[in-house]
Amino acid sequence: MVALGSARVREAVRHLQEAIASGRWPVNSRIPNEADLAAELGVGRSTVREAVGSLARLGMLEPAPGRGTFVRSLSPVYGVLSDFAGQHSWADLLAVRKALEVQAAELAAVRRDPGAAEALRQLRAAHAADVEGSAGTERGAAPGQFHSLMVAMAQNRLLEDLYAALMSALRSGVAAHQVCSGQVAEVRWAEHEALLAAIAVGNGSAAAAVAAAHADHDLREVKGAVDDG
Ligand SMILES: [Zn+2]
Repeated sequence: MVALGSARVREAVRHLQEAIASGRWPVNSRIPNEADLAAELGVGRSTVREAVGSLARLGMLEPAPGRGTFVRSLSPVYGVLSDFAGQHSWADLLAVRKALEVQAAELAAVRRDPGAAEALRQLRAAHAADVEGSAGTERGAAPGQFHSLMVAMAQNRLLEDLYAALMSALRSGVAAHQVCSGQVAEVRWAEHEALLAAIAVGNGSAAAAVAAAHADHDLREVKGAVDDG
């Protein structure tokens, strides 16, 4: 439990944590705006702002200016992991992210349980929203949602937690929102479609190969940015 600020702020923090932990606000979803939360909790907007700020510092929420505030992880543990990850170079972070995504793509493709079809449907929907150019808008998928959903589809909680921590560290710095968002759109969509196709037919090695190539594009972008700077 987080012990910050006044009793009123602590109570607001507890309320927000409960909404996240219970799944009412899933990871990557946008939480209600400040005014709605203030009304729901029966507190002032400054109290809501302070509570949201507390959870943002713990890596659970991420305010995205102009787009709202997104749920990024289920517990503060990821904040600790994220701080740890943040002590490493971008190249190292992206290399480990690649390893996690390759493994996630393979696991997602070979998943056979009853929930697999619904997970694939959500992944397709996130891709469709991205292609429509609505990513990050009020109606579009959250930034990076396609990748987060693919990692969640792998159903390996440790992998998912490590990935969330890594992404939080990546988002907090110069590589903010850089997960494949810096790539040429046509290449990006083609690779996401290749991933979807490989996962849909259950081809684990093909999914892993596409995920590796896709992550390599980001690695090259960051290397170029570091070399230029
Ligand atoms: Zn991508």
